[in-house]
Amino acid sequence: MKSPQSNRRSIHVFDLDDTLIQTEAKVRVIGPDGAQRLALTPAAFTTHVLGEGESYDFRDFGNVGILARGVLVGYTRTILETLLKRGTRSDFGILTARGDKRLHAPFLIRLFQGLFGIRLKNALIFNLSDERFLRYKDSSELPESLRETFSGRSFSKLSVPERKALVLGQDLAARGYNDISLFDDSRENLAAFKVIGKAFPGITYRPHFIDPNWTARLQEFRNGDKPRKPLTSGRASALLLLQHHSRYAENPEAGLRALQERGVVSLPGGVRLAYADGKYALEKK
Ligand SMILES: [Mg+2]
Repeated sequence: MKSPQSNRRSIHVFDLDDTLIQTEAKVRVIGPDGAQRLALTPAAFTTHVLGEGESYDFRDFGNVGILARGVLVGYTRTILETLLKRGTRSDFGILTARGDKRLHAPFLIRLFQGLFGIRLKNALIFNLSDERFLRYKDSSELPESLRETFSGRSFSKLSVPERKALVLGQDLAARGYNDISLFDDSRENLAAFKVIGKAFPGITYRPHFIDPNWTARLQEFRNGDKPRKPLTSGRASALLLLQHHSRYAENPEAGLRALQERGVVSLPGGVRLAYADGKYALEKK
């Protein structure tokens, strides 16, 4: 008899902008008069709210030249390399809001082949503007099985990202995947994808927050109620915090030695790094 483990079919799906790649591409905010008011980075765009009469212009994201000049996020690259080193049998996919898949897909396939030796399947590059998603803007157009799960009122309460997550979940379920990891720099996206677990009880959904500089997590800790947050990745997280948020930016290794000797190193905004018995933590002062 087969064990449940041997029936596991997993896929690791990576968001593109600011998770896999950082680019100069900007989302422009256009005023009612047609003039550009702002140019947002992909990270700023995830939380931006339009003013009255304003609209977005995504022209940079249809431009494969800008994508090709992007820098692979080192933090995410290390995650991928670690997975491969451990001999993962998982497949890989990409989720992107960028305009034209016919332009981007060949680039992404070559990038993954060249850097990681991974054969990325075209069908596993999910472009939020491709027809798999466009068809389901309206709840009435969703397949019957999903309409049943989110019947009536509860479906109308789903956000657009949640509806997209359902479409992606359904596509992956149909391909036989039952273990989906999503890597994304947007907490909102990761949360929206929780509907997959609700709609497809046989699928395990694992969210992974990508925050290469610890900027978002440090801010969340400052704003949160907890006085202490243990660093589960220990030394690696402490080094990132020292590099990006302390006076040891030039030499984080020296910061780590100072932390190990003294037990604490101050960070801005009323928090500090603490070290004791081989364990690292963030603390409020
Ligand atoms: Mg992103």
